[in-house]
Amino acid sequence: EDNLGWIIENKVIRHALWQQAELDEGIHFFNDNKLASISQGESEIFASFANDTSLDGNSSPPTPPIIAKLVVGADGANSWVRKQMNIAMIFKDYDHHAIVATVACPQGHKNTAWQVFLPTGPLAFLPLKHLSSKYLSLKQKTLDENAGSLDNHCSIVYSTSPEDAQRLMTLDETDFAKELTAASDGKLGDITLKSERFTYPLTMRLAQDFVKERVVLIGDAAHTIHPLAGQGVNLGLLDAAALAQTLTVKLSEHDESYNEFVNSSDLKAFSRWRKSEATEMIAAMSGIKQAFTPQQSPIKLLRGIGMNLINNFAPAKNLLIAQALGIKADLPEIAYQKDTL
Ligand SMILES: Cc1cc2nc3c(=O)[nH]c(=O)nc-3n(C[C@H](O)[C@H](O)[C@H](O)COP(=O)(O)OP(=O)(O)OC[C@H]3O[C@@H](n4cnc5c(N)ncnc54)[C@H](O)[C@@H]3O)c2cc1C
Repeated sequence: EDNLGWIIENKVIRHALWQQAELDEGIHFFNDNKLASISQGESEIFASFANDTSLDGNSSPPTPPIIAKLVVGADGANSWVRKQMNIAMIFKDYDHHAIVATVACPQGHKNTAWQVFLPTGPLAFLPLKHLSSKYLSLKQKTLDENAGSLDNHCSIVYSTSPEDAQRLMTLDETDFAKELTAASDGKLGDITLKSERFTYPLTMRLAQDFVKERVVLIGDAAHTIHPLAGQGVNLGLLDAAALAQTLTVKLSEHDESYNEFVNSSDLKAFSRWRKSEATEMIAAMSGIKQAFTPQQSPIKLLRGIGMNLINNFAPAKNLLIAQALGIKADLPEIAYQKDTL
């Protein structure tokens, strides 16, 4: 394969998904409403909106509740839906904070993602590209125009210990950029900082169950992983594909009068399927992180890295390759490469 993957900017994916959703007549948007509660009926679920109160204190007429067969919580790591349903989570602090920023690399990124494994954690340089406006929302287009040329710009994700992240955040722009140049052995040239820096604590999260009654969790609402292999979005998209497959297979098995739509054992099977995939990916991320974590002494460090690479990195790498090539078992149909079936 020429490429095992592609780097696509988040804003491009969001814009494409939004455009597609707007074209679908079956999708209704409730942009100005906020959900207040979810309650279970015998064979339905009710999602109620908060009463809108304007600044002058007048309430607008309440939006009627949505009555549905299923609610899908795709509302990110701090999922409101998950909290409403009291679904328990397993947490593990990765003991890393990620610094995210845009930088310019005068030697050019060669349309390639670069990753340096430093003793404190991985530093990724993800290539950015000037995009035609059809891939961007109007707001994003204006922001990009104001930012100027994106030639040779990269987005960095610098995962490091919380203490080191704090130190890096207090450096001025020039010193921070110097550290990046040194960390990348000058391979991308004398790096300069082109944006504000943001920092995020990194936490592994796994919902105990991805399904409770008539509520399903997908994406970061169900799991969060270390970003070192850039697999968070893929994992969420595969949840969505697996759920769509579960629902369409079951719908085609029943006629229109079938009341259940999808029964709880189908949803439990979906939950087991996706939870085991998320657990496997969490283990793979820990394996990669472990593989590059240095031991104490220099000799131990060399021996340790060699053994760690074989024991931890190789299985994780094989999993990522199989997933990227669409030849891994247990992928939803849509994710298989057709000519490998
Ligand atoms: C520093 C960092 C770097 C990362 N880098 C990568 C990478 O390179 N590649 C990769 O694949 N993944 C990466 N990830 C992970 C990736 O960002 C997530 O896995 C992905 O965004 C999850 O998508 P999601 O749609 O499930 O959740 P989100 O992207 O969090 O989207 C949830 C959406 O729900 C909306 N929402 C939340 N609550 C409500 C509410 N009450 N009402 C209405 N809307 C609501 C939010 O506004 C948001 O738009 C990174 C994560 C971090 C922290």
